[in-house]
Amino acid sequence: MDTDSDICRVCRSEGTLDKPLYHPCVCTGSIKFIHQECLVQWLKHSRKEYCELCKHRFAFTPSKSQCICRC
Ligand SMILES: [Zn+2]
Ligand SMILES: [Zn+2]
Repeated sequence: MDTDSDICRVCRSEGTLDKPLYHPCVCTGSIKFIHQECLVQWLKHSRKEYCELCKHRFAFTPSKSQCICRC
């Protein structure tokens, strides 16, 4: 098991140039990273705007799909 590589908490695959990994909340460890695409899907599915583990509101606006910062 390669536990050193960063993987998406949803789909369990690594980040790529096309689909980089983000860390939109304050979780650490294996659940730290998520694809933007996977996060959007999760947000749609769960209808939540915050992480259910750390309760941190995602620094992410699905409508501004290219920007994950708070600008
Ligand atoms: Zn993913
Ligand atoms: Zn979190």
